Amino acid sequence: MNRRKAIKLSILAGSTMVSPALMSSTLNHNVMKKGKENGTKCENLKINLGNICFYIFSDGYLTLNKPQPTFAPAIPPAQFMDEMEKSHLTKNIINFAINIMLIKTQEKTILIDAGMGNHFGDKQGWLLNNIENAGFSRNSITDILITHAHRDHIGGLITNDGTIVYPNAKYHIAKEEYDFWMSDNPDFSKSKLTFEQKNTTIDFTKKVLNRIKEKIVLFHPGDFLFSLVQTELAAGHTPGHTIFTISSEGKSIKNVVDVFHSPLLISNPEWGIEFDIDFEQGIHTRTQILEDCYINKQLVMSSHLPWPGLGYIDKRDKYYWSPIYYYTPTEINL
Ligand SMILES: [Zn+2]
Repeated sequence: MNRRKAIKLSILAGSTMVSPALMSSTLNHNVMKKGKENGTKCENLKINLGNICFYIFSDGYLTLNKPQPTFAPAIPPAQFMDEMEKSHLTKNIINFAINIMLIKTQEKTILIDAGMGNHFGDKQGWLLNNIENAGFSRNSITDILITHAHRDHIGGLITNDGTIVYPNAKYHIAKEEYDFWMSDNPDFSKSKLTFEQKNTTIDFTKKVLNRIKEKIVLFHPGDFLFSLVQTELAAGHTPGHTIFTISSEGKSIKNVVDVFHSPLLISNPEWGIEFDIDFEQGIHTRTQILEDCYINKQLVMSSHLPWPGLGYIDKRDKYYWSPIYYYTPTEINL
């Protein structure tokens, strides 16, 4: 592995690697202590969409120092920095929020992904603490929709010592996604990841999926889940990358998950991002979904856009991100 790739990988893995032996304290104690000491508690954001109630929680954030070549690998650095500066990003750093949706119905409490967990440092893994601060218990989670099996979406399903975090939950994952990761040799031939990055990613994902597999329920993108969630395939980021729409009383929100990781990729979808397992298909899917959301004036949620990741896709000469305006810090009525 060359030095640049090694640095990038260590950043993605978290800068403060902690051995599993040091992370063996009980789950609640560990999470609550971290929350208090590091000030990671934040209020939840409650959203009322017609007669559906959902929440957005933070699982923390990821930092990408020197974003190229992960971002925009073929774009000249001067052009890239020019676009960064137009977005008031004067340092060569991009942060990604980790925004997690929880949907509460009469019968179910559904988590959409589980964040990163504490496997790669303390800038992530805030989700459980924030859920508990909002009055939910980890035992009350009935279902978890896994949009795709990257570490920042499934890491929070198990602790560092392998304990299952949400013991009463069923895990719903697209068959295409599950089969890809659990195959003997997942195909990364259209990815720009290094051999080491690929293997690290596969090893971690297999570890988590093997731990939870008894309670996995497979679906196909296009299925309507929980009488509430219209799923849709958005392949490219991963083969079974699933986005979805929830609707009520004529209103809807589309959770586009990891179709774009930054407002910069909305304005420049063709730049591409090396997180996409099929780099070119990722660009195609991103462009198509941007146009659909723009044409339909679709309210969008994103896993990684700045907190809380809610807004619209607009267009002048290029697409751009328009965060929604809201005036009450803890509750939005859509
Ligand atoms: Zn992600």
